[in-house]
Amino acid sequence: MLKINNIHASVEDKEILKGINLEVKAGEVHAIMGPNGAGKSTLSSVITGNEAFEVTQGEIMLDGEDLSELSPEERAHKGVFLSFQYPVEIPGVSVTNFMKTAINESRKAQGLEEMPASEMLKKIKEKAELLDIDRKFLSRSLNEGFSGGEKKRNEIFQMAMLEPKLAILDETDSGLDIDALRIVANGVNKLKSKDNAVVLITHYQRLLEYIVPDFVHVLYDGKIVKTGGKELALELEEKGYDWIKNSVK
Ligand code: ADP
Ligand code: MG
Ligand code: MG
Repeated sequence: MLKINNIHASVEDKEILKGINLEVKAGEVHAIMGPNGAGKSTLSSVITGNEAFEVTQGEIMLDGEDLSELSPEERAHKGVFLSFQYPVEIPGVSVTNFMKTAINESRKAQGLEEMPASEMLKKIKEKAELLDIDRKFLSRSLNEGFSGGEKKRNEIFQMAMLEPKLAILDETDSGLDIDALRIVANGVNKLKSKDNAVVLITHYQRLLEYIVPDFVHVLYDGKIVKTGGKELALELEEKGYDWIKNSVK
């Protein structure tokens, strides 16, 4: 599904990604771990097409198609979903109405008609039930006064509704309490299927107690320096990132 070949990327002439190779197949969950500043968020930005980063070398293929020339919106419409690290508050716009607009914008961009209201309601109901989201939550103003857990609930709900092929979840190090971790984990576990894939970026091993990845990659100084199974996350937790730093040296 996703094939990244020798990606190099820079910001303001500083090279941050220094030759990343990664292959993600349908049905797989990949975790990307690594110390702060390693380039994890840069990698997610480069996959989703954030224009702040300049890709200087390499290619990013989704189902055999090179994404390089596509805007973030076009990539989203091809089925790439990125969780929002800094969600916007939109007072007066409910979670449901925001979602309806997002779905219909996406359909429009793909040359499809708006989703009929009855179908939309049915889908919202079905996904909300799947994720244990109550009605009251759906009518709240987007992100206004949301707790960390509620922001995650909203993100996972968006992911459920948009049904992306490839979901990239970049979990920041701060503000994720156990409650929020469980919401993310339950959501990912319920939404994963043989047809989609998840790339989970995290600084901490804890999230991987709830989501069992098929592969764990360690990103360090702009390169993937180690790849393994779920046991690699445990090893990292035990030995710390200094272990990686020393073995790279
Ligand atoms: P991680 O997510 O692994 O903590 P990042 O991808 O956020 O790492 O950052 C990698 C490096 O790139 C850091 O040294 C960071 O300071 C730098 N960096 C990231 N974004 C920018 C930016 N917009 N401008 C300048 N430097 C940046
Ligand atoms: Mg960081
Ligand atoms: Mg980051």
